[in-house]
Amino acid sequence: MTTPDKKIAIVGAGVFGLSTALHLARNGYRDVTVYDYQPYDQNAYSPFDGCDAASADVNKIYRCSYGDETEYQDLAFSGRPIWLEWNAAIASTPADKLPRGLTPSTKLFEDCGFMRISSDAVMSDYDKHCISELEKVGLKHHQHVLTDVEDMERLWGKEGNWRPKVAAFAAFTEGKRDGFMDTSAGLTYADKSCTWARYLCEKAGVKFVLGPLKGKFDQLVVDTSTGGKVVRGLKTADGKTHPADVVIAAAGGWTPSIVPEVSGALETTAGSVVTIQLPSHRKDLWDKYSPKNFPVFAYGLTGHESPEYGGFYGFPRTPEGKIKIGYRGRKWTNYQSQAATGRRLSVPKTKYTADPQVNLPLKAITNLKAVIAEMFPDLTAVGITDTRMCWYTDSIDNNFLIDYVPGYDDTLFVASGGSGHGFKFLPVLGKHVVNALEKKNDQFTPLWRWRTAKPGEHANGLEEGEFGGRNLADLEMATEADWKFPNTVERSKL
Ligand SMILES: Cc1cc2nc3c(=O)[nH]c(=O)nc-3n(C[C@H](O)[C@H](O)[C@H](O)COP(=O)(O)OP(=O)(O)OC[C@H]3O[C@@H](n4cnc5c(N)ncnc54)[C@H](O)[C@@H]3O)c2cc1C
Repeated sequence: MTTPDKKIAIVGAGVFGLSTALHLARNGYRDVTVYDYQPYDQNAYSPFDGCDAASADVNKIYRCSYGDETEYQDLAFSGRPIWLEWNAAIASTPADKLPRGLTPSTKLFEDCGFMRISSDAVMSDYDKHCISELEKVGLKHHQHVLTDVEDMERLWGKEGNWRPKVAAFAAFTEGKRDGFMDTSAGLTYADKSCTWARYLCEKAGVKFVLGPLKGKFDQLVVDTSTGGKVVRGLKTADGKTHPADVVIAAAGGWTPSIVPEVSGALETTAGSVVTIQLPSHRKDLWDKYSPKNFPVFAYGLTGHESPEYGGFYGFPRTPEGKIKIGYRGRKWTNYQSQAATGRRLSVPKTKYTADPQVNLPLKAITNLKAVIAEMFPDLTAVGITDTRMCWYTDSIDNNFLIDYVPGYDDTLFVASGGSGHGFKFLPVLGKHVVNALEKKNDQFTPLWRWRTAKPGEHANGLEEGEFGGRNLADLEMATEADWKFPNTVERSKL
């Protein structure tokens, strides 16, 4: 069991590492150090400046609608007031006191609403569950079913620009697809949120060791002199040893390659994302897709698993005019042999890894183009301007993995398994990680406990290994020519 006098080393300064560090420091832990090979103090988590962590992104969905997974519904709601407090704190901080990348006008949380669209005219069971569970906790007033006249009257009476937000999808939904507008939801600006959380950590006394060598975890220091295994610290890529009483592995998609024991519980998979950069002179598109007039949306997302042509989601334009649209109907793997053990594990492959991945599987681009053409025909002339493979750390049941790694006498701990839905919990996740470290049971302990897949059991794709048709090496990849729609116009002529 961990206590505040212990020396804690955290590997990874993404959402899981940051939130853990912040809550440890606020709970009296005086010796917490976070290691990351990314120089986040310089690149401010920018995905355009070398960052490839899931947390280092332009935006992520904030939602409380979680079907019947009411623990996450509660957790998301518990963080909402903090997201709003953080917005207010930034707005009232002088520019010269804010960390690099933030200004007093920076918002972390945008309550632009979330339009959840089912695949057909009847709402999916998952969406019905979302509404009924929210109703049970008195939150139905945030939900507005498109085909329910009373709900929509209620929406029109609400403060906020809800009519254009619904109208943006009218041609796609009317008579064909049901869904609901959730006015409590919206988006978080991910890179900026991490920058802010790192700043709060530093203010609370957390130390950061960042950089490609000095911050890069190389290996654990394991003492076997007692007959068992006890972690005494870690070694970084610059050759230095850093003593620690407890090492917490919070390295996102890199966690299985750092702590191979988790490979029976976690698999690193990729989601497919495209970006459409709006041309600066197209004021009509900048207005239509602004978060004032356009919500976050999802189409055909039914819980964590979606049909192959399904699981699309997207965002209003960023302040820089970027519209991000993602596809998670199929998630990809990248199996490689591990240098130390020879073991085959899926590991992230991004624009910035040694063997870079600059495009998406053709299937992902094809599906994304089809849905964009149907939902937003006005974006097809602009065309796709960038793509990204963003790496999830899927657990076998989509619950996080937050527990001690067995066999290390409570000196090695894992905080990972975000499974594509961990970002929104940045303000509150660490509170429950601290409980797990201190072995205090809470609502989440049973969900997040150590577990591994049993042979023959469905395990969120992990059971397929590298031969399930998702491995990048076996897929036809798109080229930049595939980004174009038939009517895409050269940018200079737009
Ligand atoms: C495509 C996609 C869409 C998503 N959409 C949403 C959404 O809309 N809403 C939502 O709530 N969540 C969403 N998520 C999930 C969310 O982004 C993740 O759950 C969360 O960001 C994971 O955080 P993490 O800290 O576990 O991992 P990461 O963010 O990947 O961070 C891991 C860190 O470890 C560091 N690291 C790796 N190896 C080493 C090493 N050897 N030494 C030192 N440091 C190392 C990395 O540099 C990185 O900073 C999405 C995820 C993906 C992939």
